[in-house]
Amino acid sequence: MKTIHDLDVKGKQVLVRVDFNVPLDKNYNITDDTRMQKALPTINNLLVRGASVILASHLGRPQKDKNEDGSIKIEKYTLKHLIEHLAELTDAEIVFADDCVGGETELKAERLKPGEILLLENTRFHAGESKGDIDLAIKMSRLADIYVNDAFGTAHRAHSSTATVANYFKPEDKALGLLMYSEIANADKLLKSPKRPVVAIVGGAKVSDKIKLLEKLVEVVNHVCIGGGMAYTFLKSNGGKVGNSICEDDYMDLAQEILKKAKDLGTEIHLPIDNLIADNFANDANTKIVPSGEIPDGWEGLDIGPKSIEQFSKVIMKAQSILWNGPMGVFEMETFDKGTYGIAQTVANATKNGAFSLIGGGDSVAAINKSGLADSVSFVSTGGGAMLEYLEGKTLPGIKAITG
Ligand code: AMP
Repeated sequence: MKTIHDLDVKGKQVLVRVDFNVPLDKNYNITDDTRMQKALPTINNLLVRGASVILASHLGRPQKDKNEDGSIKIEKYTLKHLIEHLAELTDAEIVFADDCVGGETELKAERLKPGEILLLENTRFHAGESKGDIDLAIKMSRLADIYVNDAFGTAHRAHSSTATVANYFKPEDKALGLLMYSEIANADKLLKSPKRPVVAIVGGAKVSDKIKLLEKLVEVVNHVCIGGGMAYTFLKSNGGKVGNSICEDDYMDLAQEILKKAKDLGTEIHLPIDNLIADNFANDANTKIVPSGEIPDGWEGLDIGPKSIEQFSKVIMKAQSILWNGPMGVFEMETFDKGTYGIAQTVANATKNGAFSLIGGGDSVAAINKSGLADSVSFVSTGGGAMLEYLEGKTLPGIKAITG
């Protein structure tokens, strides 16, 4: 995999697609700058090596939120809101371009000196961006000598600035950024020649969102622990009573197919043996612990029970490699967060014992951050949907555009 380390960038104009899609409050203050922080290694490396850095990113979904007159240049999504913080983070001179393409932007790019940054306006202010428009990509390619993609969070999109634009740079003039590289390298540690046994922990609300992931995982890993709302579709398909728990009846056949495929391949699937159930979807609901398959009508399973935490933890502690995607319960409510945080602690303990652990995609990333254990696992992915698709075995357009 070619990275920026393989490029000669001195004195060159380098167009870097970053993911600066940060959350802003109503006064346009950045409320979480993680995505900007994660792009810094690439940006700083290029600046130090004497490149002029041109940054392109999207922010929000202007197409969806259109202005009253139908235009998509929406004040709340302008990248101007990021200039000040970017200057603080990089300590570099920031020039801003009101458009990500066009004559004036080309002039600003041309005049940019080594060590300076040109921040382009939101790429999604052009309707063609999300369609992978060729004309837009060609215009963007005119800004630079070199193209770098460091936006892992949007690598699963075939947009003009994430994929199409790369076609207009020679193979020797394009490469992956350092964040992209570490996301791929860490996922590959699990998918290709991992240290065994490999344990996948999969949770979240719905089976339908994770079918492809499960199908792929049963081929790659040794154990799959299934928790969260999706466990109830599996438990019901095995003949259990799930009461009012979230359950996708249409997916019960597929759940059985996955169980059979796992059995044929010698992959062990672990379903929760007990559940924390509630008579209402609320923090102050009445609760009790019941064995799996015995949830009465009027009650719903909102977390795995203490025996399941123990059962999953035993499996996880024997792992050499761990993948976690999706919470074990409705961890947003304190009453139902024990399963998710219990598993987070076990993953941290196993990591301390030498296992490699990757927290990838879905709300498990939010959960590990909230638990304060993010620094106690090996790698926390920045790309929700992108990581999920990569783990499913899909080719991501943003990576393919660079690596061919
Ligand atoms: P995902 O984005 O697929 O990882 O799903 C995360 C969501 O699943 C979180 O908002 C959780 O609250 C929700 N979830 C987890 N367990 C359950 C459950 N037993 N019932 C309903 N929702 C759940």
